[in-house]
Amino acid sequence: MGSGDTATAATFTGNRALMLEEALIFEIGSDTTCGVDLPETPRGASRLGSLARARPIGLPGLSEPETVRHYTRLSRQNYGIDLGFFPLGSCTMKHNPRLNEKMARLPGFADIHPLQPVDTVQGALGLIHELQHWLVTLTGMDSVAMSPKAGAHGELCGILAIRAALEARGDARQVILVPESAHGTNPATAAFAGYKVEDVPATPEGRVDVAALKARLGPDVAGVMITNPNTCGLFERDLREISDMVHAAGGFVYCDGANFNAIVGRVRPGDLGVDAMHINLHKTFSTPHGGGGPGSGPVVFSKALTPFAPLPFVEKTDEGFALVEEENAQDHHASAFGRMVAFHGQMGMFTRALSYIMSHGADGLRQVAEDAVLNANYVLRSLEGTLDAPFAASGPCMHEALFSDDNLAEGFSTLDVAKGLIDEGFHPMTVYFPLVVHGAMLVEPTETESKAALDQFIGALRSVAERAKAGDPSLKSAPHFAPRRRLDETLAARKPVLVWKDAPLAEAAE
Ligand SMILES: *Cc1c(COP(=O)(O)O)cnc(C)c1O
Repeated sequence: MGSGDTATAATFTGNRALMLEEALIFEIGSDTTCGVDLPETPRGASRLGSLARARPIGLPGLSEPETVRHYTRLSRQNYGIDLGFFPLGSCTMKHNPRLNEKMARLPGFADIHPLQPVDTVQGALGLIHELQHWLVTLTGMDSVAMSPKAGAHGELCGILAIRAALEARGDARQVILVPESAHGTNPATAAFAGYKVEDVPATPEGRVDVAALKARLGPDVAGVMITNPNTCGLFERDLREISDMVHAAGGFVYCDGANFNAIVGRVRPGDLGVDAMHINLHKTFSTPHGGGGPGSGPVVFSKALTPFAPLPFVEKTDEGFALVEEENAQDHHASAFGRMVAFHGQMGMFTRALSYIMSHGADGLRQVAEDAVLNANYVLRSLEGTLDAPFAASGPCMHEALFSDDNLAEGFSTLDVAKGLIDEGFHPMTVYFPLVVHGAMLVEPTETESKAALDQFIGALRSVAERAKAGDPSLKSAPHFAPRRRLDETLAARKPVLVWKDAPLAEAAE
């Protein structure tokens, strides 16, 4: 028996050295034990009557070290940007600078309340005002609404402003045009705001088909939603022409700015005729995603839409910073459509984003865009001979490299490549998006990865892709080294089991 056989043998515990097997807390804890010793409580007469609990509460009892170990073990089965490279496209999972965290924890920003008198939070309002200034300047727009709490929320904010502007002129247009390659939030936003959504086709080279768009414009079209750079990783070169056409037809231009990190400091959307655009602070300006913190999606507006932008906004006056919470015929938000949130937005994210912006400066932000694009092109060109890159012939990409499943062996798919990457220690890239490419694999390295990190990823992806092209059967059952193998992801998303089925608590709830 070779040593390899011994290594693959099952262990007594199910653990594999530092890879520890971990059961659910309901399986390791018991509702009859407790983490602390308390003296028996003297039995007094209960005054709960029929409300007294008849069954145990069903919470697992564990000691403090057992509890800490449980969650620490679970956390080690996770993957995050502080652990390794995150090639997810259309997400800009990047570095969350520690300086941002330090600034966000300063008590003057962290320990304040939205209902505090404004003269006690002048510094915080000053910070929001300064961030507003940077966002308006970087985008070449007229104003910004800071309150939306994510990109999708920002899209809704922009579309509601467009609707308010149309209503103000008594125009009941009902259609929003959205390119086929758009992120799902675009059509969802337009539909949620009450519009009929129609597709705009793409050209074979992956950009909006301008002729088809022009042919569709008319008195029923409220606006278009265009992502630039688009989700195929290409710059929409015709956006200025598109904006002029849309404006001439009486509509508005919404730009999905999720990919702004590829052009920040180099292109101002305002110069391209955009009327509204959200900026995901958690993409372009390095604030944490998902479990790491709330999102934040400020929306910049053109002069035409500014009067309709939502409240509140921060203004500088002779007496200091003011929080404008009511519309006023005199000011530039004279016809605000309402509010997006109860208060002012995500203060912690504003602090982090401004720290990032100020630590880079205008020249540093421009370099962010340049390096993000350089890194993506390095990935694209390095893998061009390995994977099919449908738009590589259109020229350099922007910040994302897009591949298809075109040359994988019969029976092998993008999913197999993604699962193989997990065994190599990488989070998979974005898969099956955008929908315009069959079996899409969208890789966004961002500017923060070194050449060594990119080379390691490229080597791993090339190796996995070669296995998928050669029809290596072991790839069909990858990942082999992850804590769990292939899950039914659709079932998990559609019918998540969120309750421990055997817990007395669940029974009690039934
Ligand atoms: C991320 C993203 C969105 C949505 O942004 P959230 O902040 O996740 O709501 C919209 N469009 C594109 C292209 C994106 O990448």
